[in-house]
Amino acid sequence: MLNPVRLRTEYKQNPIGMDEKCPRFSYELNGNSKYQTAYRILVEDEQGSQMWDSGFVQDSRSLQIEYKGATLKPFTRYNWKVQVRDENGVESYWSAGDSFFETGFLGTEWSGKWLSASSGPLSRLLRDFKLEKTVAKARLYATALGVYEIYVNGNRVGEDCLKPGWTDYFERVQYQAYDVTELLKKGDNTLASTVTGGWFSCKGYGNSAALLAELHITYADGSTEKIVTGKDWKRFYVHIQNPIRFSHLYNGEAFEAWEETDWKQPGGYRTYAVAAPETDIASHAILKTIKVVWQSGADIRRMIRMEPVKIKKRPNATWIVDFGQNFTGWERIHLKNTMQGTTIVIKHGEMLNPDGSLYVENLRNAWQRTIYTTGTHEEEIYEPQFTYYGFRYLEISGWQGDLTKDQICAFAVYSNLEQTGSFQCSEPMLNKLYENIVWGQRSNFLDVPTDCPQRDERHGWTGDTQVFANMATYNMECGDFYTKWIEDLNLGRSSNGSYPHVAPKMAIEPHLKGATGWADAGIVCPHIMQTKYADNRIVRKYFANMVRWLDWQIENAGGSFLVNNALFGDWLNIDAMIDNQYLSTAYLGGMTKLLAQMAVKIGENSEAQRLEEMHRSVKKAFGEAYFSPDGELQEKTQTAAVLAIHFGLCPDETAHRRTIEYLKQDIVTNRNLHLSTGFLGTPLLLRTLTEAGELDLAYDLLLQTTYPGWLYPVTQGATTMWERWNSWTEENGFGDPEMNSFNHYAYGAVGDWFFETICGIQPMEDGFKAFRLAPLPGKRLTHAEAVYHSAYGEIRSAWKNDDGTFTWDFTVPVNTTAAVQLPPGMIPDGELPDGLTTGDGKTFSAGPGSYQLQFKAAE
Ligand code: BGC
Repeated sequence: MLNPVRLRTEYKQNPIGMDEKCPRFSYELNGNSKYQTAYRILVEDEQGSQMWDSGFVQDSRSLQIEYKGATLKPFTRYNWKVQVRDENGVESYWSAGDSFFETGFLGTEWSGKWLSASSGPLSRLLRDFKLEKTVAKARLYATALGVYEIYVNGNRVGEDCLKPGWTDYFERVQYQAYDVTELLKKGDNTLASTVTGGWFSCKGYGNSAALLAELHITYADGSTEKIVTGKDWKRFYVHIQNPIRFSHLYNGEAFEAWEETDWKQPGGYRTYAVAAPETDIASHAILKTIKVVWQSGADIRRMIRMEPVKIKKRPNATWIVDFGQNFTGWERIHLKNTMQGTTIVIKHGEMLNPDGSLYVENLRNAWQRTIYTTGTHEEEIYEPQFTYYGFRYLEISGWQGDLTKDQICAFAVYSNLEQTGSFQCSEPMLNKLYENIVWGQRSNFLDVPTDCPQRDERHGWTGDTQVFANMATYNMECGDFYTKWIEDLNLGRSSNGSYPHVAPKMAIEPHLKGATGWADAGIVCPHIMQTKYADNRIVRKYFANMVRWLDWQIENAGGSFLVNNALFGDWLNIDAMIDNQYLSTAYLGGMTKLLAQMAVKIGENSEAQRLEEMHRSVKKAFGEAYFSPDGELQEKTQTAAVLAIHFGLCPDETAHRRTIEYLKQDIVTNRNLHLSTGFLGTPLLLRTLTEAGELDLAYDLLLQTTYPGWLYPVTQGATTMWERWNSWTEENGFGDPEMNSFNHYAYGAVGDWFFETICGIQPMEDGFKAFRLAPLPGKRLTHAEAVYHSAYGEIRSAWKNDDGTFTWDFTVPVNTTAAVQLPPGMIPDGELPDGLTTGDGKTFSAGPGSYQLQFKAAE
């Protein structure tokens, strides 16, 4: 029998405040049967009235099943369950446990009004109210232009931080929804909120923050009441009794603990609280256009508690705290018996100077400081709320007495995404590289995929995102995270249809045209959603925009099919400048093909044909422009060769072969076994060499430990991915501080090769419903293991090499099929395990189960 587990609605477990009109359901299966042949989904409202009974649907998929029942109502909980039939027709039990989704506004109007927070560093707004009856159910919906915390009777609501996160505020802001039933009581209650600028002011959307909230109460007798932002709300004078004296996303937070009052409680401090003004359109032009939307993205949380590994006192009486790991988040201090009014300054940095002091030059204008002044308590615990830092080290001054490990810790703060991948192998440096890649993701997945988390930048650079997304979706379940970001990416398009350099955009129409490899995130990211999560809806939703971007490029090429939008070139290449027109045209060749494939999957067949046709025209023009008649590539850089091979743009077989030869020769001879590729070439380099049959060279490059290459920063002590291979070296110290991040995930894109090639896990259909298992062990590794928890369940592939005899363990989840392939030149050693169906002797079809297979080189 099968057993449905891990039920999800729109990528989320039991979401509340969900405004999809036709939400999609997904679940996994376990049990001792192998395949689902049919499913039945039942949806009921709170009263138990049936909304949808799908009946048994003959379908083996368990992903992205669209709701097709009665129209959903706002603010309503719907319970759902699923039952499946297996290959023998045996019906499972209904899925166990509470599974539900709860709608939010579903397009209905807010009755709350935006309240102006003051233009100072932080506003405190509140509403006292009395409840006469017993509360049966209460939901709080809230959001801000800025970042906010909200409290019911002094209790912080929700575990999420830095809400409402960062969206394109010109267009939309996400609201949060909370179950606050337990926090309300009969009698006096207080709803209180602190609001500060956050991304809203830091990224230039507006100066003064604002709050919007609605508390929906249902009493035990069935009657309802709403407490909403508007009249009867109060706001404090900003400068009096406000402990947060300063707060800024890049610069940090200043807190004066002796100013703290009990203002969040009913009957608490109310001196200097005056009527809070409603926000007028004049001061907030943005309110004319902004939409308040549900939180399709993931919330931000304190995900990992970090402990100091070393604390050292410096001669000038400052302390250096080392967490042993570069990350994003903030610290928490625990003070005991500190004299009132003592000011402690905590600076954050990624590296130390040679003299042991904190290195801060690469932060540019980001101040990254916590300034804490002690209050009157024997013990004080503090952590900043409305800022975040990229750091490994703290430099602390003003601390009284000894600083011990129990007095300080920190939190790695990032989007609340489930870890789905792991990788390890026999080469410790590669394991460290993989760890650094994961930390790069943790550090830059703070609601928006950013380039870096520390300097005065932290933007959603689209190029960085598109190269890393394939890796990211092995490491973590990123469905909701990218759903939200891709919407901002689309909202950021120029009026001509080109995609922006950064998303969320930060100004209206600043960009003249899309940049090759950056704007293409508009196609690549939905493609990843389609392959990894069978998300065809997202492809359908933005399909016209993607087509427009490609059409626009061609329209501007004056009939030549040679285009030029390569604004950033092959960013950070190593003395290997690429011709801009070459780069743009190659990318266009790649994207027309990719979008044609995506189109077929959503049934856009005539567009698919038109895109194929475009691809052929681009390929022809490209071949004529950049290859000699006898097939020699005229652009002499590794990235040029990689793009031509990977995007299938060499005009014929000879040109293809010669391009591979050139690439090999450049790597091996000209560069002494090193890469010279930048942001666009590097992510495709190993994959391209593998596709070209140059596996050994791919391994050699990956395992190269000298500059430039992936392992070089590891030899220099890196704990994350660096912006440059030589951001710091033992020999020369720090690189140019103007652009030198020690936490830049883009080059971490290489990690997808660990999953897809070293261990051979590759999606084929419908988000791993069918996948390939085709590991390509390298001579220099003796074992490797990758585990990926796909949307269908856990896939594992682990091999080890004992003197040429390979033992390979792999797991195929229930309801999936793997096309198992031995490495070229290998044959099974001994009998085949049960359940493997032989194809041509080297390819097998494996149903659900765990297998062990031995293989060796053919004689
Ligand atoms: C960012 C990069 C980004 C680039 C665009 C830099 O400042 O940090 O990661 O892609 O600008 O060229």
